[in-house]
Amino acid sequence: MDLVEKIQILTDAAKYDVSCSSSNSSRKNKGGLGSGHMAGICHSWSEDGRCISLLKILMTNICIYNCEYCVNRASSQNKKAIFTPEEIADLTVNFYKRNYIEGLFLSSAVIKSPDYTMELLIKVAEILRFEKNFYGYIHMKAIPGADDLLIKKLGSLIDRMSINIELPTERSLKLLAPEKSYKDIYRPMKKVDDFILENREDKKKYKSSPKFVPAGQTSQMIIGAARENDLDIMTRAQGLYDDYSLKRVYYSAFVPAVKSKLTEGIVSPPLLREHRIYQADWLLRFYGFRTEDILNETNPNLDLKIDPKASWAINNLDIFPLEINKATYDELIRVPGIGKVYANRIIQARKYANLSFDSLAQLKISTKRAKNFILVGGKYQGFNYKDPDDLRNFMANSDADNKIQLSFLGD
Ligand code: SF4
Repeated sequence: MDLVEKIQILTDAAKYDVSCSSSNSSRKNKGGLGSGHMAGICHSWSEDGRCISLLKILMTNICIYNCEYCVNRASSQNKKAIFTPEEIADLTVNFYKRNYIEGLFLSSAVIKSPDYTMELLIKVAEILRFEKNFYGYIHMKAIPGADDLLIKKLGSLIDRMSINIELPTERSLKLLAPEKSYKDIYRPMKKVDDFILENREDKKKYKSSPKFVPAGQTSQMIIGAARENDLDIMTRAQGLYDDYSLKRVYYSAFVPAVKSKLTEGIVSPPLLREHRIYQADWLLRFYGFRTEDILNETNPNLDLKIDPKASWAINNLDIFPLEINKATYDELIRVPGIGKVYANRIIQARKYANLSFDSLAQLKISTKRAKNFILVGGKYQGFNYKDPDDLRNFMANSDADNKIQLSFLGD
């Protein structure tokens, strides 16, 4: 098999892994420049916040496991291929020199055993770092079940590592990926977290000590392949942030690309649900929310019609409307339509004068959504509702954002 065919097979097979940002769209080249259609390049963010393009590829799609949701599973009839570590290192350097990419995102199916696969990944990283003198960004997926020493070795060569949790409950993991176990997934995650902390301490003592995954670890969860609810998903994500200091959890709407009795009846990826989960995740990571603020046993799923912050506010109308001239920063950022930038602008501006709706407009603060939850100088300009459902329906109908997001994700 020639290299071009391997590239076609193994970039296409990598497109379902979203633990680095997505890589392709349905836009086709009709005779102009570029292509958003082909998989192969994805984007990530470096430690200093730069967006960098990465070659996104699998080492191999030959797998010993049979995960029900995966196009690469052992029983699948799709074309199989494997790169040598030298081929991947050469591709990375050649694409880098042509300015196509700035780094590599390498994942792999499990060939022969977790340890064997990890050794192949390590070999790629070693060739790049030591033979090719490549200092660019490398993100690799570690293989659950691999030896701790291999995890440590790989982590000392690359910038970011992801270990995919795959499914939000142990029950669904057992059902859909019976060869995998939470123990095998959590153990390396914990090790990576420990090694990162160890490395931080070493760095304080010896500036020259080598870095260990300086861009942190991430994970991925598949949404909608099993019967779990959003409470299961967000509780799992919160645990990953709290206990393993994950930089980010990625969510991937299940694409029913393979036939399986266990996922029968799922006809399309739940993209809007995935989008709402990303919004809820954002609230956990940046706005001080906890899963229990947003979801509970009585309401275990996110409202698809309105975003989770608006939904939370409507469920807590006893604390609204909030007076903008008095609310704390933490209160302000919980108001739908007010983010961190607006909250800072409000806090700064009110040091000099009491704010009015006009002064908010002068500060270029839109109150289109927020006005339903705030008082400004004692005045309310929002929708006059009789009960929470009234406001919920009003927000759902008037939320242009909802329609934009639907079309954005509806490809
Ligand atoms: S381990 Fe499971 S998810 Fe990963 S490539 Fe193999 S079958 Fe697919």
